[in-house]
Parts: sequence; structure tokens; C-alpha cells
Amino acid sequence: VKISSVTIFDISIPLRLAFRHSKAERDRSRNVVVRVELDNGAVGYGEGVPVAYVTGETSESVVAAVRDRYFPALRGRSFATYEQLGRALLEIGPVVEGGVCHTSAKCAFELAVLDACGRAFGHSIDHLAPLLGAVGPAAGPSRPPRYGVALTADREWIRKRLRLLRLYGFRDFKLKVGLDPKADLENVALAARLLRRRLLRPRATLRVDANCAYPDPEAALRALEPLVRLGVECVEQPMGPENDDLVVGLARRLGVPILLDESVRTLGEAERFVSADPPVGVNVRLSKNGGFFDSLRIIALCRRRGAPFQLGCHVGETGILAAAQRRLVGLAPDARYIEGAFGTHLLEEDVICGRVRFGFGGRPPKVGPVGLGVEVDEGRLRKFLLGSVRFQ
Ligand SMILES: [Mg+2]
Repeated sequence: VKISSVTIFDISIPLRLAFRHSKAERDRSRNVVVRVELDNGAVGYGEGVPVAYVTGETSESVVAAVRDRYFPALRGRSFATYEQLGRALLEIGPVVEGGVCHTSAKCAFELAVLDACGRAFGHSIDHLAPLLGAVGPAAGPSRPPRYGVALTADREWIRKRLRLLRLYGFRDFKLKVGLDPKADLENVALAARLLRRRLLRPRATLRVDANCAYPDPEAALRALEPLVRLGVECVEQPMGPENDDLVVGLARRLGVPILLDESVRTLGEAERFVSADPPVGVNVRLSKNGGFFDSLRIIALCRRRGAPFQLGCHVGETGILAAAQRRLVGLAPDARYIEGAFGTHLLEEDVICGRVRFGFGGRPPKVGPVGLGVEVDEGRLRKFLLGSVRFQ
């Protein structure tokens, strides 16, 4: 098969609640959906959520990167097997130039190609994971995978919702912190109190994500040490990438694992942290990290170095990315934490037929047997359309 056309949809989807953390506030999500059509008529979709403050990308940069960099690497080439296509995709590295890391563009394009060809050859995308060799079986014992939840830093919301989420069977809870140390302390104390018995057993976990909020290690320690004393067992991205050199020292003093999110977009960036002592882990997110293969490469690296990793999501991602992430969850049940597949809990409407949403207690959603395992409803996609371009 050969790619006959690529269409890029720039969409804006309304969210059910406004999201706020130390770096952003939004009530809509601006996503890019790529549609790839093959010469035999098979069609596949991929998605990226470009976040300027993380990768430097915008919807416009995604269009340019797919058109000028990623698609030309496959244009005109013909593939006889799914493996052959997979090997061609493995050769495409993430383009990083002028301070922009074009990983969301790579993710959206790669997933669309994997989906279309998976349908053409009758395979799911996980069929290609063995091409990476090193991914192999999960390291260490792993529990059945469970998705967790992230709580907004709103006291009333935590008070009202945490009990319900606990009853719903969730195990892993994450709180956003960093806007106001005093409020953070009160929020974490409230959550710790509501989860107390479960945290002790331990049948629940509590962690925080600061989204780069603290200006230096001293400020981070001052704010985080009291939270750790309350039972916080892991901290995500305490400081911005300008403080990357100081993260390992902070992890040593804090005494709980640190996961980096905004600081790790590529395998090279991950390498630097997961080999440290103590190893600093990674929040692996498909769009931020350049798609399926690059995410698996980072997971394999974390395993080799004994670093923890999380399978995370982007606020506002649709069932397309959620389905791809579900594949990663199947391949990496040893992820320390999983979050995603919120579907219509977060989106006013999804762009897929049916849904890819976690079940009771955060059980993984079901997906179909070929490609990413989800059917896109293009009529719905067009409701949120800001613009589209097609090239051949
Ligand atoms: Mg994060």
C-alpha cells in the first residue's frame, strides 16, 4: 500500500469544565486530527495536542511539519507488509529546530499512518511493538492496570467529588499544586484526610503535579516537604526546564520520586534524567513525546534504568489519542500511574463512534482489534472544525 492523501483538521473542542494550573487555563482544547488515506481506500486517523509552552508547537506548526517534514519521508513509498511500514516509521526521528520540538505533529501523523495501514493489513498497532526489541516484557511485578484521576485545585470540588471518586473505586489521585502554597497545603490535607484509611493500607495513592511552578529548589522544598509529610508519594515537574540541572538534587532531598513531564519531550531528554541517581522518572504522553514508537522507546529506557514512568494524557484529547494510549497501557502494565480516557467526562462531545472511556475503578477501556481500535465520526469532527488542508 501507498499513502494517497493526507488531510489535517484543526479543531477546537469545548470542555465540560475549565482547567487551570500554574501555566495555563482553558475551557476548550485545540487539537489536530490527521487523516491518512491509502491507495487501496483504507483510512486512518491520528491526533496531536500541540501545547506551545511545552513543545513550542501550534496548530500551524503542526500542519507545516507534517506537510514539509514527516509526510515527505513516506510519500510515494509502497509497503508490502505492516512490519515494513513500521520499520520505515521507526527511521523518522522527531524534528527539533529553532526551539520547537515537533513531537505532536509526529504523533498525529504517525498514528494516522499506523491506523490506516493497520486496517489495510488487519493488525492492531501493538503488533509492531516487537520491532523495538528492547520493549520486551514488563519489568517487575505489575498489578492489573488502573487509570487514576487528577483533581483541580478547588477545595469545594475536592470536598464534593473525592468521596464519589473513591466510591467509584479509583486508586490513584493527583492534585494540581503551585498556584498558592497555603491553599495547596489545605487541599492536600483535605484529600489526605478523605483518603486516610486507604492511604494507610495502602489502597490509594496521592501525588501532586506542580507544572513548573517553583522558581528554584529551595522554594520547591519549602512547598513540597509539608505535602510529603501528609502522604504525597510522588511529585510531577516541580520546576521549569531552566532548572533541569537541579532536579536530581531536589529528588534526593525530598525523598520521594520525581516524574518529569514538561522537561521530557524526546528520548534524548529522557536519557539524561532516568540515568541519574536517584533516577528521575517520566510522564510519557503520546502527543508530547512524538507518538507510539518514541513513547515506547522512553518506556523501554525507564525500564532499563529502573526509573518510574507514568502513562499520561493531554487535557482535551479525544478518543483517538485515548485509544492509542490504551494500546500503550496494554504494552506497559508496569506503569507506575496511568491517567487518561476521560472521554465525555471532560469533553462536551467526542469525535468517535461509541466511546473510549475508563470503567469502574479506572479499569481500562475497550478498543477494537485493528489499527488504533476506534472509529472516527467525521461528521462530528467537522462540528469543531476551524480549518483543514489536504495534500497528496
Ligand atoms: Mg503534568
